[in-house]
Amino acid sequence: MPDFCIDLRSDTVTKPTPGMREAMARAEVGDDMSGEDPTVNRLEALCCEILGKEAAVFACSGTQSNQMGIRAHCLPGDELLIDVTGHIANFEAGGPAVLSGVSCRTLQGTNGILDVTDLEGKIRADNQHLCRTQLICVENTTNTGGGRVYPIENLERIGTWARQHGLKVHMDGARLFNAVVASGRSPAEICAHVDTVSVCFSKGLGCPMGSILVGSKDEIYRARRARKQFGGALRQAGIVAAAALYALEHNVNRLQEDHENARAFAAAIEDIEGIHVQAPETNLVFFDIDRELGNASQLSAKLKEHGVRINPAGPQRMRACTHLDVNRIDVLRAADILAECVRSGFAHLAGASTGPYARG
Ligand SMILES: *Cc1c(COP(=O)(O)O)cnc(C)c1O
Repeated sequence: MPDFCIDLRSDTVTKPTPGMREAMARAEVGDDMSGEDPTVNRLEALCCEILGKEAAVFACSGTQSNQMGIRAHCLPGDELLIDVTGHIANFEAGGPAVLSGVSCRTLQGTNGILDVTDLEGKIRADNQHLCRTQLICVENTTNTGGGRVYPIENLERIGTWARQHGLKVHMDGARLFNAVVASGRSPAEICAHVDTVSVCFSKGLGCPMGSILVGSKDEIYRARRARKQFGGALRQAGIVAAAALYALEHNVNRLQEDHENARAFAAAIEDIEGIHVQAPETNLVFFDIDRELGNASQLSAKLKEHGVRINPAGPQRMRACTHLDVNRIDVLRAADILAECVRSGFAHLAGASTGPYARG
């Protein structure tokens, strides 16, 4: 085993920096369940301002804030519409069904992105036999859809269409700030077309935990009750909210660097025989492996032996993720190691041809 590890499995592997830890140690705190944690209150107010919504509630994780959003919009027996690759439908352990009695109707979009043409005809009639179509979920940036930025025109069309038909729209913005940096649009501009938005602080923003859900006062009132029911209401949560405030100040603009490193990595592997890489839009690089070479789990195992961690994202697909704990030298070195692993072969290694595939 080499004495180094270039970890491209996820932007969730980042560790809080000394500056972030210092901000956490200094945080003013109170009992958040009584609304008395000044740092949480400051974070919630700032997120309302940045994302352009009336109200906000801090949550433990992106999964939790998504599920709070679903509960805020839906009743048991409702269904939500979501792209087939959606995190909410695939990687939240059946949360909508378990926590809110909501079924997910998955639709085939393009690279995880929906448009009105995908949604048309999917609202069920008001009829005792049918579930009530209530919510549309969009993911920005898409995760397993390819790390893509939702075109603002799609969001505008979906938002308008949803309002016309009495549906709500929730944006799973776990990587919203990657979309902000990649598109050059403001967060408020992107969020204007949807009702609620969740953002994850523990992805590219580098926090140990934490998420925010924003929306209208009524929606967030209901979401706050859901947070309590889901066991996510906290006491001196200012310690973690301080990390989020620090991240919003220091770690947003630098996401650009992650995107550049993703492009550099993609460019460095595109000529490897048997590897087919998609041009990345953000910090996620997806590439497919020719079957003759072996499968993604086998390549992942081989890379691990050589000090590079990249997770399979499908039987023949890998997902490499850049983040604040890897730099340009690291990703280029990882690309060299990948080339060498492919050249020397990996089909002999143990590696299941089925999941679990990349989630975070
Ligand atoms: C990571 C992620 C989440 C939330 O994940 P947590 O691990 O619960 O914070 C939600 N949606 C998407 C698209 C994600 O990538």
